[in-house]
Amino acid sequence: MEWKKTACILCECNCGLEVQLGGEGDRHLVKLRGDKAHPSSQGYACEKPHRLDHYQHGTDRLTSPLRRRADGTFEEISWDVAIREVAQKLAAVRDTHGGETIFYYGGGGQGNHLPGAYSGATRRMLKMRYRSSALAQEKTGEFWVGWRMMGSTTRADFEHCDVGLFLGKNPWFSHSIPRARVTLKEISADPARTLIVVDPRRTETAEIADIHLALKPGTDAWLLVALVKLLLEEDAIDHAFLVAHGAEGELPEIRAAMAAFSLADCLARTGLDEALVRRTATVIAKAKAFASFEDLGVQMNHHSTLVSYLHRLLILLTGSFGKPGTHFIPSVLVNVMDGEAKRTSPVVGARLVGGLVPCNSIADEILTDHPKRYRAMLVEASNPAHSLADSIRIREALSSLECLVVIDVAMTETARLAHYVLPAATQFEKAEATFFNFDFPHNYFHLRKRLFAPLANTLPEAEIHARLVEALGGLDEADLAPLREAAKLGLTAYAQAVLMRVLPNPKLSAVAPVVLYRTIDLPEESRDGAVVFGLFAKAAMENPEALARAGFTGTPLEVAVKLFETMLASDSGMVFAIDDWSDTVKRAKTSDAKFHLALPDLLEELAKLPGLPAQDVGFPFVLSAGERRSFTANTIIRDPEWRKKGAEGALRINPEDAAALGVVTGETVRLTTRRDAVLVAIEVSASMQRGHISLPNGLGLTYPSGKRGVAPNDLTSTSDRDPFVGTPWHKHVPARVERA
Ligand code: SF4
Repeated sequence: MEWKKTACILCECNCGLEVQLGGEGDRHLVKLRGDKAHPSSQGYACEKPHRLDHYQHGTDRLTSPLRRRADGTFEEISWDVAIREVAQKLAAVRDTHGGETIFYYGGGGQGNHLPGAYSGATRRMLKMRYRSSALAQEKTGEFWVGWRMMGSTTRADFEHCDVGLFLGKNPWFSHSIPRARVTLKEISADPARTLIVVDPRRTETAEIADIHLALKPGTDAWLLVALVKLLLEEDAIDHAFLVAHGAEGELPEIRAAMAAFSLADCLARTGLDEALVRRTATVIAKAKAFASFEDLGVQMNHHSTLVSYLHRLLILLTGSFGKPGTHFIPSVLVNVMDGEAKRTSPVVGARLVGGLVPCNSIADEILTDHPKRYRAMLVEASNPAHSLADSIRIREALSSLECLVVIDVAMTETARLAHYVLPAATQFEKAEATFFNFDFPHNYFHLRKRLFAPLANTLPEAEIHARLVEALGGLDEADLAPLREAAKLGLTAYAQAVLMRVLPNPKLSAVAPVVLYRTIDLPEESRDGAVVFGLFAKAAMENPEALARAGFTGTPLEVAVKLFETMLASDSGMVFAIDDWSDTVKRAKTSDAKFHLALPDLLEELAKLPGLPAQDVGFPFVLSAGERRSFTANTIIRDPEWRKKGAEGALRINPEDAAALGVVTGETVRLTTRRDAVLVAIEVSASMQRGHISLPNGLGLTYPSGKRGVAPNDLTSTSDRDPFVGTPWHKHVPARVERA
């Protein structure tokens, strides 16, 4: 049987896969294996994608556009009616209240990024100004401090580091670095290298680490203060690096800030042994190449932005940037790590990092009589009714909108609240790609071709946006005909026509993604990739050296054409850029061309470093809501049968806590937070500290057969959030456990 190329869609790594199709109509993924020819994953794949057929054949697939009736039930309507009415309703909100009252959420994620690229055309037609995505409940604090300190967030070169640190991250299951388990095992097995894990839990990564700092939940800020303090005391500072980047002058402020802390107090708060913390500081101080990665364990916890700041201090003070085995800024096609914060949200004035409204503010922006409240919403390839904190309030907000339109593959929890539901093709029924291209020095891009034709009466998001733009009056045939003619003459002639006719024309350039989609002559299997042509043209102007090293030379137009042709011919993905370590330093651009150690607002927050809230007698446990486990992912697989293990998602609890409660594995307990209470099965696990409990992510979806597992966000609150960027503290939810 033929092996076809595609990619895994379950985490940001998007490992290349080879699949065999079979079953009814050859529409099933019957065999999967890692694709050795994929430039990044090189044949690697974890256990999760082997059951991806459960995604392709989810239990509540949409098969027709739907319109909600007054009684709350849905009726099927034709695509023509759906597009016309959605365009009319959203245009009416724009014309009456302004486009800024229509809010966009989603746009894809993991391996599904093209919807977001095409949605730009629809958003511009509707004059929409505000948007958000899952990034705004995870990464915006890190992006914001990175942008202010170094001009960008960085990634880390774990392949070549001699000391690797994971902060609130279990890459064994959450990955995020290429071939994660191979790299982790290599660091762990090499006596000359040190793997450090900071995590309250004895995770799978902690199991193979050289140093596991099992601190008390939520005390990461004190640990980082202790480490920075020790580095300063030993003067294990890369002064030459700081001088080179204009940051040495800010060192006294950092010394003063750290001097205000006592090491003993920091250690007491973390519960860590002084000798272990001192050893960690020494290992980092002596590292030839220190690489580190922070993730949701700290980014969804108390002091999240402050922790991101302290983490970045550790990187800069040790000069761990711009050389092999340290941190780098990759060449990117789309800057998904944008940390600039120029605007605020219209109602509550929340800081928008990278233009994203904090997810925890969305309900407040809707549930108000403020004239600039969001009155309509377009949700695409996302499920905020399930994935955002305090699902109860988010659902109330979504239900109160004048118009909610959902574009999705399945009848999600959000789609059930919509006025219109537009059924999309799955990720294997259209060409798709990811913009999480963070590899270094060889960076790759993979346009994976479709494996199947879209299910009848469903459409790829590119086609949905093209039809919406046309219904909104954004395009007519007279605009497109000359481009189509040029396309017949080949890509170079086409690119010249775009340069002459689209870029100077504000009307066409506003909807350029759709113009490309409607006019480039592509085979059906790659058609949705049209928008990438524009991104290649941009990259050709921004990163000519890196692209040239990968063999793409010539004028920007010639480079864009070569990149596009190579992309179409590369079933396993292509290396589009080869970076040099000097490029990464050039990309670190702050407004004054210097690195910054002293951020006044963060230092002010550090000076008062708020302690953790006093333990409430009613809620003696700390719940970590959303742990990544072997068969958990985001919620795109809407079939509980895909999980080989833990289909219901048990609550993990320390053996002594379980004994004190008199419960054993498999028994059902009542789990209560300030927001709600649920019944859940217990899994007694020595990986948990006393007082710390954890629920898996991605469960609690409502299938046609009923709800399976606990939805973590039924238990979380929007008010428990970071003071700077509003990220939620899902990993530190006060909770109570009782025998049911
Ligand atoms: S590491 Fe991520 S992308 Fe790769 S196979 Fe596993 S879940 Fe899929």
